[in-house]
Amino acid sequence: MNRVILIKYGELTTKKGNRKIFINTLYSNILKKLKGLNVNIFKDMSRMYIEYEDKDQDIIIKNIGEIFGIHAYSIAYKSESNIDSIKKTISMVLKENLDEHDYTFKVETKRSDKRFEPNSVECNHLFGGYILKSFKNLKVNVHEYDVLVHIEIRNDYSYVYLNEYKGLGGYPVGTLGNCLAMLSGGIDSPVASYLALKRGIKLDLVYFEAIPHTSLEAREKVINLARKLYPYSGDIKLIIVPFTKLQEAIYKNCLENYSITIMRRMMYRIMEKLTIKYKALGIVNGESIGQVASQTLTSMKVINSVTNLPVIRPVACFDKLEIIKIAKKIDTYDISILPYEDCCTIFVPKHPIINPRIDTCLEMEKKFDYEDMIAEILNNLLIINIDNNTNNEYKDIL
Ligand code: ATP
Ligand code: MG
Repeated sequence: MNRVILIKYGELTTKKGNRKIFINTLYSNILKKLKGLNVNIFKDMSRMYIEYEDKDQDIIIKNIGEIFGIHAYSIAYKSESNIDSIKKTISMVLKENLDEHDYTFKVETKRSDKRFEPNSVECNHLFGGYILKSFKNLKVNVHEYDVLVHIEIRNDYSYVYLNEYKGLGGYPVGTLGNCLAMLSGGIDSPVASYLALKRGIKLDLVYFEAIPHTSLEAREKVINLARKLYPYSGDIKLIIVPFTKLQEAIYKNCLENYSITIMRRMMYRIMEKLTIKYKALGIVNGESIGQVASQTLTSMKVINSVTNLPVIRPVACFDKLEIIKIAKKIDTYDISILPYEDCCTIFVPKHPIINPRIDTCLEMEKKFDYEDMIAEILNNLLIINIDNNTNNEYKDIL
C-alpha cells in the first residue's frame, strides 16, 4: 500500500530554536500512542509521515486526533517525484475517493524541492489539465471547488491527497516542562488540565480527599476523570492526598468564614511540597475569577501568597458556559456532574469571606501544628498510575 498519514506540525513551526525538540517530542508521543500497531514513522523539519497497515487506518486516525502539536493531517498517497508517477497517483486517488457524480476541483501544488521542474503554478496547470482530460465528471473552478487536490513535491517522494483533517493544535505534551494539576471532581479542573496539556505541559494530577467525609465514589469519580485525560496526556499519575486530619484541624481552630481560605492555603502548601517531590515547575488548577468566594482577586492573592511557584489557571477568564463546552468535548462533563461530595463542599461556611486578610490567616494558622500534619500527609500519599490498562485494576482501592 502506498498510503501514508501525512502530518503538519502547525504552531511549533513558529518556535524556530526549539523546533528539533518539538518535533522529536511529537515523534515519540506519536510512537507511544500507536504502540502495538505495525507502523513506520518518518520525520523531517516540516512533515511527519506514518506508514501503516490498511486495517489500522481508522484507529490511527482516531489516535492522531488526540495528540497535541498536530495542526492538520491527511491520508496521502505516496509517489515517486516525477511527472508520470504523480499523474498515476492522482488518477488512483481520484478513482478511490470520488464517485461518478460531477465535481468542481482545484489543484494546489507545493514544491519544497525547488529543483523540481516545472514550478508550482505550472504544475497546477499541468496536473489540472491531466485531470480534465482523464475524468469527464470533473471541471475546474479555482474559486468554488468541491475537491481540492493537494500535491506536495518533496525531495525524495511526492504526496497527493484530497481531504485535510484539523488536528488539535497546541504543543506536544512534554515540550514545556512538568506541572502538577489539582484535580477535583468538578467541571473546571479537568478542563484546566486539558488546556494545560495543550500548551505542551506534562502533568501529574493531585486529588485532596477527606475520607470519611468524602466517599470512595468521589475518589472513583476523580479516577474516571483522570482516565478521560489519558488519551491526551499519555501515562499519568494520580496522587491522592489524605487531607482529613488537617481539614478537621482547620474547622476546629479557625473562624468559620476563613475556613475555605485557610484550607486552600494548606492545599497550596502541600502542592509546593509535591512539586519538589515530583520535580514539577508549577501548579495548574481550575480557578475561575469570581466563581466562588475563594476566587475573588483578594482571596486569590491571600491564598497564593504561601507559594512563589507559578500557578497556571487556564480557565481563569472563561465563562462557565465556555468551560462546559470544552468539558463536553472531552467527555468529562457527565462525570463531573455526578453528585458526590468533594472536600471543598463539606463543612462549607454560610458566609465565606471574600476579602480575607493575610495577617488574620497567619494568626489562625498559629493555633495548630500544620507543618507536622503536612509531613504526615506526605508520608501517606496514595499513587494511582493511569495507563491504557482498561481492566478494573482499581478494585483494591475502591
Ligand atoms: P471545579 O472547579 O473543578 O469545577 P470545584 O468548583 O468543586 O471544582 P473549586 O472550589 O472551584 O472546585 O476549586 C477551584 C480549583 O481548586 C479546582 O478547579 C481544582 O483545581 C482545585 N481543587 C478544589 N478542590 C480540590 C480537591 N479536592 N482536590 C484537588 N484539587 C481541588
Ligand atoms: Mg470551580
